[in-house]
Amino acid sequence: MTTKAVPTPQPIFEKSRPGRIGCNMPKCDTPEVDLTFLGPLRETVEWPEIAELDLLRHFTNLSHLNYGIETGFYPLGSCTMKYNPKVNERAAIFPGFANIHPMQPERSVPGAIETIAQVQDILSELTGFPSLSMQPVAGAHGEMTCLMMIKAYNSARGEAARTVVLVPDSAHGTNPASAARCGYTVRTVPTDSQGNTDLAALRDAMGDDVAALMLTNPSTLGLFEPNIEEVCRLAHDAGAQVFCDGANMNAMVGMTRPADHGFDCMHLNLHKTFSTPHGGGGPGCGAIGVKPHLAPFLPSPVLMRKEGKAIVDHDRPLSIGRVSGYFGQFLMAVRALTYLLAYGRDGLPQISRHAVLNANYVQARLAGVLPAAYDRPCMHECVLTAAEYKKAGVRALDLSKRLIDHGFHPPTNYFPLIVPEAIMIEPTETEAKETLDAFCDALIAVCEEAVQDPGALTAAPTTQVVGRLDEAAAVKVLDIAWKSNRTAASV
Ligand SMILES: *Cc1c(COP(=O)(O)O)cnc(C)c1O
Repeated sequence: MTTKAVPTPQPIFEKSRPGRIGCNMPKCDTPEVDLTFLGPLRETVEWPEIAELDLLRHFTNLSHLNYGIETGFYPLGSCTMKYNPKVNERAAIFPGFANIHPMQPERSVPGAIETIAQVQDILSELTGFPSLSMQPVAGAHGEMTCLMMIKAYNSARGEAARTVVLVPDSAHGTNPASAARCGYTVRTVPTDSQGNTDLAALRDAMGDDVAALMLTNPSTLGLFEPNIEEVCRLAHDAGAQVFCDGANMNAMVGMTRPADHGFDCMHLNLHKTFSTPHGGGGPGCGAIGVKPHLAPFLPSPVLMRKEGKAIVDHDRPLSIGRVSGYFGQFLMAVRALTYLLAYGRDGLPQISRHAVLNANYVQARLAGVLPAAYDRPCMHECVLTAAEYKKAGVRALDLSKRLIDHGFHPPTNYFPLIVPEAIMIEPTETEAKETLDAFCDALIAVCEEAVQDPGALTAAPTTQVVGRLDEAAAVKVLDIAWKSNRTAASV
């Protein structure tokens, strides 16, 4: 490498001052060794020289630039960004949970196995599915696991020619992606004018080539499918399986059970409905539940109860195999159990009651400025349309960006795809009326501004350290590393 001479040394750490020290190094208690024979290995590396308090302030101030559920209202729909109770973290750091090693022999961790079994027991009671697996580590992973099981089930019964998966046009993008990942062809089912599955179109799409229907209930339109039993019957009559995308279980906890609606299997997102952290896309849990005919195909090993005792069954000849290491994200099970037990059987239905009440409150308060895409009561989230403002040159995204200037995280935009200028709001059950009112007041003010001064919206946000970002580029041209001026000049 030819290194160009660096013209004038730029301060690469703007707060660094030569000779300033932020910590006291302990005295060396071993003989000093001359390491210069190794060569000037670190010549190009610069270190910040800064006092401890200045460094502390620097990072604390940076952390305040973040927006999160613990700093403000976070209305993203289809994501359930709900509060993660601190008592969950308490439980997760108990040494008996935190210090065990995944490679420990099963007989040395009966408490951990019992913990997972208790989560499964409660999830089983809430969903109606008798057999579960906590291995999948995300919702999408749970979808894929269920489709893999359906594929194995169809092969085992001589129905391997079923190569199509039906997906409604309102579905979350992970549904068609999971189907494609499993080698299925995706056939789209339209939504009718009421926001329900178009039954006539579903009947047409069914056939002996269909392996499964993936259905989200309540749908991503925030609407409960009133014909759900009929939908499942149509699929079963054609020999297809019905998978429930249970990411919206927040609307149904303790109220009604997907297994009773006719579904064959489902996934749950513990990081949505059961208050475990989303973890930056990391440690999620997309637990799955299945009916008895699919149970032989569950990922092995299967954690189950035998005469009341939690056991790990490795003898699963028809299993699709493992879908993750060990038992999935164990500490997510601990957090979810803490949450489930904190509410208890009587408290759990309150989750969905309040989630649905809050969403309907927001939908009603905003009706004058942002009408609902479908004029009927919603479940845990409401999908509104900002199509009206397009005339003034204002798009849903502009309204959302302006909300940032009012101190709120934007809601979801442009999803589901079938709603023009969609704004999807999921308040969750954990928000107080005052917060919902402040949010609605802000959004109403933004909508009024859209009519009077549209330019102010297209320029938003103007109150943050950065302005409007190119989100598509941010995802595709990922550049998150800090680079010093010097490195940049010499490379
Ligand atoms: C979030 C979500 C998923 C995917 O879950 P991940 O954990 O993000 O993979 C699937 N379907 C719906 C309706 C969702 O909201």
